[in-house]
Amino acid sequence: MKVLRMADLGLAGKRVFIRADLNVPQDDDGRITDDTRIRASAPGIRMALDKGAAVMVTSHLGRPKEGQFSAADSLAPVGERLGELLGRRIRLVRDWVDGVEVSPGEVVLLENCRFNVGEKKNDEGLSRKMAALCDVYVNDAFGTAHRAHASTEGVAHHVKTAVAGLLMEKELRYLGEALDRPRRPFVAVLGGAKISGKIDLIETLLPKVDDVLIGGAMACTFFRAMGLETGTSLVEVERLDLAKALIAKAGRKLVLPSGAVLGQKLEPGTPTQTVHRDRIPAGWAMYDIDPLTEQDYAAIIESAGTVLWNGPMGVFETPPFNHGTLAVAHSLARATGRGAVTVVGGGDSAAAVAAAGLSEKMTHVSTGGGASLEFLEGKALPGVAALDDA
Ligand code: ADP
Ligand code: MG
Repeated sequence: MKVLRMADLGLAGKRVFIRADLNVPQDDDGRITDDTRIRASAPGIRMALDKGAAVMVTSHLGRPKEGQFSAADSLAPVGERLGELLGRRIRLVRDWVDGVEVSPGEVVLLENCRFNVGEKKNDEGLSRKMAALCDVYVNDAFGTAHRAHASTEGVAHHVKTAVAGLLMEKELRYLGEALDRPRRPFVAVLGGAKISGKIDLIETLLPKVDDVLIGGAMACTFFRAMGLETGTSLVEVERLDLAKALIAKAGRKLVLPSGAVLGQKLEPGTPTQTVHRDRIPAGWAMYDIDPLTEQDYAAIIESAGTVLWNGPMGVFETPPFNHGTLAVAHSLARATGRGAVTVVGGGDSAAAVAAAGLSEKMTHVSTGGGASLEFLEGKALPGVAALDDA
């Protein structure tokens, strides 16, 4: 599936409406705590400006009630940060659905699109009004592409030209190429809390990959399926049959941790013990992979041609159970250095990579958690499907 790209178009004098994903985390005082999504969106906006367009940008932020303005969910702080990155003042337009004044070479930020009635319901009337604002619609919001909302999907059906923005294009290229034309060996590293959220992912990846390395609490459900004792570890009892079936189907492709770092409480600095996976005692839970597993996984990751990582190896929010996740992040960084293509998808995995200061050492870190998961599962993303074909 090839979509038309903003990069393919001449935009001089055109009115361009960019739906970005500027939904950044903020502290209680409204200060932005991670501006990754704004930085990732800036190049696409700059490209539209460089092409001579009159640029309108909007995004959702937080979970506002529709039909009313709320200062807490205003894009004002986002506009300030975006202005710093683009080196210009950016006007914020509060009411924009019925018309926007903007001139070529100018960029305006349109207030939180979820203030509008009908945004999340993908209302046709709202979609048509948005379409009437512009000559060209650009979807650059990969992180929301799995949602069919008015500004991500509906609008695309009512404009003459609907294209993928620069970030959207990059996300589709890296995630798509990893899946369709991986340099081999192709290794997937999967972790996180629940196997239930990742079943479709494991099923789609198994036929494509050479190895799947499992970490996180997911490993414990596999351990139990193998008949091992798992103490108080997070196990999804209702998924045991599925885990058994996956083990049988995957054969040697499925690699499970050989050992675990255990704790009795999830508190920073809590006493731990490190055991072989068949020695997990009652009253203890697996919160991380052990150093031997880190080494085994490092060897496989560092000799891979393509590595796809989704889901932390342990409870990385609570040290010392961040060790395995950090180790895997460093292994991916070394793999990149050796010429492998390394792609990180998943919100928590991306956060762990950023916390380790290794984001720049990956070929691609996806800005879309849920969207990257659905894409990797082989599902069509409504926001992408609605764009024009190349
Ligand atoms: P991503 O956002 O990268 O897709 P997930 O949301 O699937 O990742 O999983 C992340 C969560 O999994 C984290 O909050 C982490 O604490 C949790 N987790 C990882 N390993 C374990 C474990 N052994 N026990 C309990 N929770 C775990
Ligand atoms: Mg998550």
